[in-house]
Amino acid sequence: MTAGLMQTPPLQIIDILKFAASAHANREVVSRLVDEPIWRYDYAAAMRRTAQAANALKRLGVKHGDRVTSLAWNTHRHFELFYAVPGIGAVLHTANPRLFDEQIVYTINHAESAVLLFDRNFLPVVERIASQLTTVKTYVMLSDEARTMPGAVNAQSYETLIAKESDQIAWPQVDENRGAFLCYTSGTTGDPKGVLYSHRAVVLHAMASGLAGAFGFDAFDVVLPCSSLYHATAWGIPFAAPINGCKLVMPCDKMDGASLQELIVNEGVTFSGGVPTIWTMYLAWLEKNGQTPGKLQRVVIGGSAVPRAMAETFKKKYGVRVLQIWGMTETCPLGVVATPTPSLAQAGEEAMDEAIWTRQGRLQFGIDLKIVDEDGNDLPWDGEASGALLVRGPWTIQRYFRKDEDATGADGWFDTGDIATIDTHGFMRITDRKKDVIKSGGEWISSIDLENIAVACPGVKIAAVVGVPHPKWEERPILVIETHDGETLNADDVYAYLDPRIVKWWKPDQIIFGPVPLTATGKIDKKVLRSRYATALTG
Ligand code: ADP
Repeated sequence: MTAGLMQTPPLQIIDILKFAASAHANREVVSRLVDEPIWRYDYAAAMRRTAQAANALKRLGVKHGDRVTSLAWNTHRHFELFYAVPGIGAVLHTANPRLFDEQIVYTINHAESAVLLFDRNFLPVVERIASQLTTVKTYVMLSDEARTMPGAVNAQSYETLIAKESDQIAWPQVDENRGAFLCYTSGTTGDPKGVLYSHRAVVLHAMASGLAGAFGFDAFDVVLPCSSLYHATAWGIPFAAPINGCKLVMPCDKMDGASLQELIVNEGVTFSGGVPTIWTMYLAWLEKNGQTPGKLQRVVIGGSAVPRAMAETFKKKYGVRVLQIWGMTETCPLGVVATPTPSLAQAGEEAMDEAIWTRQGRLQFGIDLKIVDEDGNDLPWDGEASGALLVRGPWTIQRYFRKDEDATGADGWFDTGDIATIDTHGFMRITDRKKDVIKSGGEWISSIDLENIAVACPGVKIAAVVGVPHPKWEERPILVIETHDGETLNADDVYAYLDPRIVKWWKPDQIIFGPVPLTATGKIDKKVLRSRYATALTG
């Protein structure tokens, strides 16, 4: 056997920040904070404070393999924890504050976290749940001394804790396959499930996501992650940005149009990312205020299907390119990204846009995809055949945290729960989630396609389609519409818009107007809608 004769340093998350602190030492990191002025420093200073935070955690008794929970927004302090915690070999559990209290309690207890670090405005949640947290011994408020309210949990101030510590540390070498981040799925079906990212997975994912065919980062980019750090590590942006020397801008909890616009314009943001609901609000704000998005060039959108109309408005009105991504907590989360290729470009710009705007994205190195029929047979990549989407690769889950069995088949493929097609260009299109598929008279109706068409109807802000029981057809689609503020629409207007654009049997049996409920990760909560309208067509 001839072994390779190259070095084998383990892939370490902390090395990303070390690299940025030397190669891009004075590239800025800017952060909004809860009730504090905007914070500004650079990667070199971030490295020093991260060492202080790591020393403070060690002083609090956090050891190799221990879990630490953050309940926090996108801020520079949370960014420091993203490196400090894995840096000392511990695991950062990023709790999702948008979950119900019981689910937050469940995840923290399941993680068996010893320390809980939280932003100021989460004190009421923390006080409410503290008595049910079985393992947390120390509470830290991510705030300065003056603004820290100890509350019923006797929280200490993060700034005071780290101020006492040295900004130097001998980072331990951690096995690259050790856990680094513990992210829970939102638990829309059953208890949240823990996905434990390893150092290796996070570093490889970070290297891949910055590539030209994915986010396309370079050192001139100014990146504003509007996807949450607590949701699948904000799509790995806190790692991919420093690797590429990008300036990083953290929005904290201010995702309204005016606040985003202030950061985008003042900080010269070139790249941002988030779920579609954020961009619906932002585009409406731009329109209402007659403003343009500064130097913004690219917006990566995922988590739910990107309405075609959104991608078109961004490009045609504002010259901003939308990169749709598909991924999931179980894939760290990058799966596919919709970026151009020469073979698409040959067909001309319009055809290329059409392809890119109607597909989730194309294959990326490091994550294999396949689609299979109900018997597990491979389906062709012809853009027509749709089946269960399976994935595998070095940043795909093997097993959920504290489960005895693998989440994959014996051959390593993980079933995503999505239904998709793949075309000859290697572009994947999600037609539905398995549990959201509408089966009408034995035929499938894609709720995503219907929503995509309905949301382009003038006046519509959110369009949600669910299947509900029907006496004759088993299930039929109904359409729930939330209109933009001040818009009035009736069912006839919407049918008039839909009729020429859809086949007859896809026509929703009912159109209902009202607010559309969203999940903890900003997706349309179809479970709630299905139960709310369960008898709409039978009762
Ligand atoms: P949750 O906990 O809300 O399920 P995930 O981020 O793990 O959070 O959700 C992953 C799922 O989100 C995917 O399996 C898919 O159904 C959906 N999804 C993600 N991105 C897209 C997209 N671009 N288009 C359609 N669906 C998407």
